Amino acid sequence: MSEKELLSEEKEDEAAVKEQQGPGDEEEYEDICYICRRPESKAGKMIKIPNQICICADCMQKTFDSMNQSGFPMGDMMNLNFGGMPNMPNMQNMPNMQNIPNIPNMPNISMIHLSDLQNMMPQSQKLKKKKKKEKGGEKPVLDIKSIPAPHKIKASLDDFVVGQEYAKKVMSVAVYNHYKRVASDNGDGVEIEKSNMLMIGPTGSGKTYLVKTLAKLLDVPLAIADATSLTEAGYIGDDIESVVSKLLAAAENDVERAEHGIIFIDEIDKIAKKKNTHQRDVSGESVQQGMLKLLEGAEIEVPVGANSKNAMVPLATVNTKDILFICGGAFPDLEDIIKERLNKHSSMGFRADLKDKYDKEENLIKRVEVEDVRKYGMIPEFLGRLPVIFTLDALDEDMMVRILNEPRNAIIKQYQKLLAMDEVKLVFETGALQAIARKAKEKDVGARALRAIIEEFMLDIMYEIPKDDNIGMVTITKEYIENTGGPVITMRGFMTLPGQGMA
Ligand code: ADP
Repeated sequence: MSEKELLSEEKEDEAAVKEQQGPGDEEEYEDICYICRRPESKAGKMIKIPNQICICADCMQKTFDSMNQSGFPMGDMMNLNFGGMPNMPNMQNMPNMQNIPNIPNMPNISMIHLSDLQNMMPQSQKLKKKKKKEKGGEKPVLDIKSIPAPHKIKASLDDFVVGQEYAKKVMSVAVYNHYKRVASDNGDGVEIEKSNMLMIGPTGSGKTYLVKTLAKLLDVPLAIADATSLTEAGYIGDDIESVVSKLLAAAENDVERAEHGIIFIDEIDKIAKKKNTHQRDVSGESVQQGMLKLLEGAEIEVPVGANSKNAMVPLATVNTKDILFICGGAFPDLEDIIKERLNKHSSMGFRADLKDKYDKEENLIKRVEVEDVRKYGMIPEFLGRLPVIFTLDALDEDMMVRILNEPRNAIIKQYQKLLAMDEVKLVFETGALQAIARKAKEKDVGARALRAIIEEFMLDIMYEIPKDDNIGMVTITKEYIENTGGPVITMRGFMTLPGQGMA
């Protein structure tokens, strides 16, 4: 290979690497001071030294000051191979840096290659630069005109989430108002209250799924955190502000995008105030207290690309004023509190009702009031910052059947697509769907059980069917699900055979 060819090959390689990194990838991120780890937006313009090392003016000054004070022998220091910084000898021209004795050759001491250290910082710890607003045609991140009206938000949710009509309606309006509030921040003195939400619903009823779908539809970053892992700052566990750090990561370290995102905190009932405890409640009431300023809106300094603040991690300031917080929880036994309240009201006066009137009422949870949640152990200040409270229904068998085959990416549709690739038609009898729903209901974990049950029965089908090219259709029967029969296999010539060896 000639030298020319070699050179052009090298160039191609370089181009390929650049392509992988994306155009102008580096320019999109802020420079970070090598010493104090502050980004350019906070520390000011950086002094760049070779090997992509940046140092802020403050740190550079401090370094020189301390060197001067301590009488550090600078001499040939500048000539050392300091991470391959060939331009450093220029510093010899500075005052006070001449006539300093040489450092003797130190055995067994090798200099760290500074550029290696710099490259150790993963992409996840880099901060995206704020986009400079174009003059004239300024475009906010979330233009009110592009926020769909509540009925449109709900219609999109309907494609994915079965039932939960009330929850979908409340959420659509709350989200619409929230982003309207963000867009209307014009300083006219009328401030619209934040529409943070508290959703109460049994496990597996679609709380997380609703929030995930919503975030996807709105194309905003979403962070999901578990309240059980949060503790008061300084104790073992995740510090409360880590949820904002998660959101920043979900927004690919773009602070502006993160500030319009959604934070979902699940299992919020687990941080209810503990009753009759004499110990410091670091994971309950204190977490609620700690979340107050976050929910309302505060400037939070969060580590970029890490869970905890330390000297090696750059920090970013995120304002939570426009972040939508949604808290969710199952609140087991909340129904007892509701029942108690209702009974108390109805057992007074002449028209006193029977004491067990509400015992058999289904979905009693729908009658929840703020007072009940407060009694459960959520502090009033916390509830005051979650003005939108609503409940989700427990899933019944009919809803489970609908979840199996109605949503756009329903589990059954997914299996049908997989088998269609082998040119096999997959059919579920209605009785089979009902049997799956019944089994799932018994497990008491909501819709989450559906996938596990279907997967168990589909394993044999997915294993056996591709063995035989002649199979044209598989029908899942009620008997197969109830372990009293097998699926019906139809060969390509329309001949139906009972399934063999698969029951
Ligand atoms: P939780 O209420 O415990 O947060 P999830 O949202 O995690 O429950 O629900 C578990 C799974 O069940 C979801 O991933 C989703 O696939 C399914 N699911 C639950 N409820 C519904 C629903 N109403 N419509 C469609 N799928 C649902």
